[in-house]
Amino acid sequence: MADRSKVKVPKVTPVDLTRLPVKFPKIEIDRTKCTVPFWCKKCLQACPQVVFQVYCKQLLKLKESDPREPGVYEVLPVRRDKCNMCNRCVEICPENAIAVTLQEG
Ligand code: SF4
Ligand code: SF4
Repeated sequence: MADRSKVKVPKVTPVDLTRLPVKFPKIEIDRTKCTVPFWCKKCLQACPQVVFQVYCKQLLKLKESDPREPGVYEVLPVRRDKCNMCNRCVEICPENAIAVTLQEG
């Protein structure tokens, strides 16, 4: 069997994430305007980067959630790091509920 004590293991230097030149866009969704996202889903269909996801906030056992009932579903920009700031979601949103900006700092 090979002597593993002589194998050189490269040193791993911890990366200071605050110094990386990576900035992700900030995607804000106004929940007072976007009330029935599972019924609308226009931003999900328009986004080429599949940034958005809709999830049910009120899961009830043996009860089907109504996508037309306000506040039952919520849209989230789960893959914000993939956003290329094309602004298609902003343009297509019928409620004008999305704002995409480049984060500062
Ligand atoms: S397009 Fe606008 S209103 Fe429709 S689900 Fe997306 S954020 Fe909500
Ligand atoms: S700006 Fe473009 S890539 Fe970014 S979330 Fe909106 S549609 Fe998707």
